[in-house]
Formats: sequence, C-alpha cells, structure tokens
Amino acid sequence: MPILVLPEDIASQIAAGEVVERPASVVKELLENALDAGARTVKIEARDAGRSLIEVVDDGVGVPAEELPIALARHATSKLTSAEDLFRIDSLGFRGEALASIGSVSRLTIRSRPAEAEIGARLHVDAGQLGEVEPVGSPPGTMVRVQSLFYNVPARLKFLKTDTTERRHIDDLVTRYALAYPDVRIQLTQDGREVVQSSGQGDRREILAQIYGSEVARQMLEVDAVHEDLRVSGFISPISLTRANRREITIFVNGRWVQDPALTAAITQAYRTYLMVGRYPLAVLFIGLPPERVDVNVHPAKAEVRFRDRDRVFAGVQRAVRRALLAHTPVPELSPDVRWRPPRSEARTETWRGERSWGLPGVDAPTEEEPTPQPTLTGGEIPLLRLVGQVGAAYLVAEGPDGLYLVDQHAAHERVLFERFMAQAEETVVSQTLLEPATVQLPPAQARLLEDQLPTLDRLGFQVEPFGPATFRVRGIPGVLSGLDPGAALRSLVEDFAEDETPLQAEREARLIARVCKRAAVKAGQALSEEEQRALLHDLERCEAPRTCPHGRPTMIHLSVDLLERQFGRRGSR
Ligand code: ADP
Ligand code: MG
Repeated sequence: MPILVLPEDIASQIAAGEVVERPASVVKELLENALDAGARTVKIEARDAGRSLIEVVDDGVGVPAEELPIALARHATSKLTSAEDLFRIDSLGFRGEALASIGSVSRLTIRSRPAEAEIGARLHVDAGQLGEVEPVGSPPGTMVRVQSLFYNVPARLKFLKTDTTERRHIDDLVTRYALAYPDVRIQLTQDGREVVQSSGQGDRREILAQIYGSEVARQMLEVDAVHEDLRVSGFISPISLTRANRREITIFVNGRWVQDPALTAAITQAYRTYLMVGRYPLAVLFIGLPPERVDVNVHPAKAEVRFRDRDRVFAGVQRAVRRALLAHTPVPELSPDVRWRPPRSEARTETWRGERSWGLPGVDAPTEEEPTPQPTLTGGEIPLLRLVGQVGAAYLVAEGPDGLYLVDQHAAHERVLFERFMAQAEETVVSQTLLEPATVQLPPAQARLLEDQLPTLDRLGFQVEPFGPATFRVRGIPGVLSGLDPGAALRSLVEDFAEDETPLQAEREARLIARVCKRAAVKAGQALSEEEQRALLHDLERCEAPRTCPHGRPTMIHLSVDLLERQFGRRGSR
C-alpha cells in the first residue's frame, strides 16, 4: 500500500482516542476548562453514565462569539503563545485539543457569553461538522453540552464498562477535583441524583466527608509541609484506617490530578512497618511547586507529569507524610523485651514475637510481620488443646501435646465464624429482623456499589433496601451480628467494595463474609468467661484451616516443649 496522509476525520478520531477514552474523560476536560476560565461555580450533569448527556455550566470568563469556531478547532488554545510557555504552564489545559476531540466523537453544543458581551452565542458540532454561530440569550459564562458520546465510533462504545463503573469514574473524578478546588462550588448530578455538592467555602473536610463519609473524614490526618519551593498538603489516613488497594491514593500536582505509581509508592512507603502486607492507606495529597519544575506535556490526557528533580519531590512527599503520621500516631508501647533470639537459623520460626500493646481495645492492632509459618503444625490441623486461661483479655493460653499455644481470640473467632458462614451459605443464612429498621446514608460511590451487591447481602442475611438517594434501610442483619449497630455493620461491609478488583462473584461473597466475621468476632480487650474460652478453642479445633484468620493473619503462636527447654537452659542450645 502506498503511504497516504490520513483524511482529516480519521486523523481527528485518532487524536480524540487519546484524549477521550470514556465519559469521565469528557467531564475532566470540560471541568478543567471551567476551572481555567476562573469559574466560581461549576455545575455538571450526566445522564446514562455520560453516554447520552454530559453538560458542564460555568460562570467563568466566557468565549467571545467570534472565537467559538476557533475554540472548537484542533490545536487552538488561549493558554499558550510561545514554545517556552510549555515549560511553565499554570493552567490545566494547554494542548488546545479537548473541545475539538470531544466534538469529533459526539454531538456538542457550546454556548458562551463573556461578562462584557451583551448577548451570548451558540455553536453546534456534530461528529466534527461545525455549524453556524448563532446569537442566543445566555448568562455570563459557558455551557458545553455533549450528547450521544461515541455515537460515530461504535468500537469505542464497546470498550466502555458497565454504567456503574463509568458513573463511578465520573463521581471519583468530580469529588477529587472538588477537593483540589475547595474555593469553587462544584455540583454534580447523575440521572437527576445529586452526587457531589461542595460549598466553595474552602472547607476540604466537608468534601472529604462526602467522599468517605463523616466518620472517615473525621479521622483523616492533615498534612501540610513546606520545604523550600515544594509544598505538600492534604490528608492521609491514620494507620488504623486502610484499604485493600491503592485506589484511594489521590495525587494532585499543581492542581492537576496525576497517576504516578512512583509517587504512590513514596506515600505507601511512608507507612512502612505500620501497615499489614497488602493493606494501603487512603490519601489525598496536593503537591505544589513552581511550574517550571514540572513537565506536564508528557501525556495526551495530561495524567502524568515529569519532575525536574524527582528524588527531591519524592523525598519531600515521604517526609511530609511520615511526619504527619508520627505526629498523630501513639508510639507503640513495647512490653519488656521477651524476644528470644534463636542461636541457629532453623529455629527462627519458633521465635516468640514480642507482642506490642497498642492500647486500642477493639481496634485491630496492625501487625508488623508477615504470618509466621509454623512447621510443627502440619496439614493445617491443630492438636487437641487444653485451656489454661486468658491473658490480657486478648489471648488464650492452651496446652497441647507439644508445648504451649497462644491463641489470638479475635483472629480465632473470625476463623470460626467464617467457616460457619461459608457452610451455611448454600442454604439461607439466619437473618435477625430488627425491631426498628435503621437508616444508613453512604457516600454516593459506595451507595452504587452497595446497590449492586444487594442480592448477595440478602443471601448473607442482610435485609437491606434502597431508601432515597444514597440511603438504605436495614430491616435485618445476619444472626451472628445481632447486638451490633446495624448501620455500622453495613458501613464496614461496603468500605472495601471495589468494583473491578474481584470480578468473581464467589470471591466477592467470600470477602463480604470475611468482613462480616471481622465485625462479629470478639475483640481483643474483651474478657471471656471460661466457658466461652473453652468453646472458642473447641470450635477452632474443628475448623478446616484453623491456623489463620480469613485475612491470613495467624490465629496462634506455638511455643514447643523443645523451645521452652532451651529457653530455660534445661537443654544445650548449641
Ligand atoms: P485547552 O484547554 O487545552 O486550551 P480546549 O480544547 O479544552 O483546549 O479549549 C480550547 C479553548 O477554548 C481554550 O483555550 C479556551 O480559550 C476556550 N474555552 C474552552 N472552554 C472554556 C470555558 N469553559 N470557558 C472559557 N473558555 C473556554
Ligand atoms: Mg481544555
């Protein structure tokens, strides 16, 4: 085939493919334009997850009528004039590509009026075909309406995920921007439901509460550190608040949401030794530095940036996070050092790990080490144990055929409940109907995910029904949870809902069950009667996998007779 210059319409579709991947990308570009235009208020409306309609209305500077066709042309921008400008960009846009790209894959209408103009103007584009500029009445500012997104690119339509996922991308995007621009009133409605509503009063906690719920928002720790020309501010979670993935780590660089795995790693590393393996913090961090120190022109969707002095930025972020964490985290109280160091390496697995007391009854103490393999307990089974007693209202002490066993009562109970639940799951789980139904309001994103999981919850014994926007009514909870606050139980379940992560329904169900059990299990700090202690040991012995809790932490530590004898010098250890 001879080499041909691509026709304009194909070229623009290729370009559009880079910028407009999904409905949320349209929202991002339009919202960024509104912010660049100095808007104080931005109203966003989406219908059918943005497939049929995305409309963004702002009260910014507006576009003069004669410039409307230029605004819609490719590589047309008011934000750059020279090539050097590229290296000190202080606006969100600069590529002059967004409107043209969006207009080439949808039916787009822009209506605008600069404050000083007497009347507004409107221009329509259909799949890249420009109409005529018409005068029209308009409040000062700009409205961009995008309809039938991707209607002329069916291949792209096929790549879109479910409406729930696409909606969530929009929710996530707008909430993050609301956090980054607390002085701008940002409102998002999806299918008539109000999802985001920030006051524009500069209060970031208020927006955090909308994203994570007020409880989590209250717990988030504030970061604010300035080092030379680098400023790191925002919020991070305390060590007691974690997630199973890195998705709740949001990073803005000079007001721009970026995806930067290395920066994310810098944040998680600041938590090192505080969090269990596989757990991640929540964070929303704003990094500010002079524009000439960041190259933002590396990614068509502007989602990546390059730093002039990367290491300095990473070190600064890590220092800021670590400092905030230390300032707010009680120093763990170490019990007298009972750590026994094995003289030979093969004995290491029997090391007594000096337990830390975190002084937080009822809260899961983060464990520092990974679960220890216990070679003496083969086949996953545990021997019959004789109860000796309870220590520190947290551990059971028991004797087995080969020494002493320390059982973590919370982890053990979690395991017992988990297996009981899984066994029941075939049939219907016993549900306890509440005398008084409880009403629970959730952050919008979680509410959506919960809605999708209602049938599963029903099978697990939760009687939950939608009850107004992002609100649910709990009529019953699983029998094992009886006595617990139903609202709190439900909330703790949805906390870790993440849609794309566990596509297998069965796996997701197991995870839900594990969470229910975590809630329901006796906590450290809870005194148990001798009968309860005995029952717990007995139930644990009966489990199929008694040695770890459903989350993989060990339920018990074994101190073998051999170890004890060596410790007491009854037998030569070398
Ligand atoms: P960029 O933002 O990279 O400049 P866009 O294609 O997004 O490119 O927009 C092109 C131009 O249209 C902008 O440079 C700006 O002058 C104008 N424009 C777009 N949206 C708005 C808006 N909401 N308010 C005022 N001007 C706008
Ligand atoms: Mg733009």
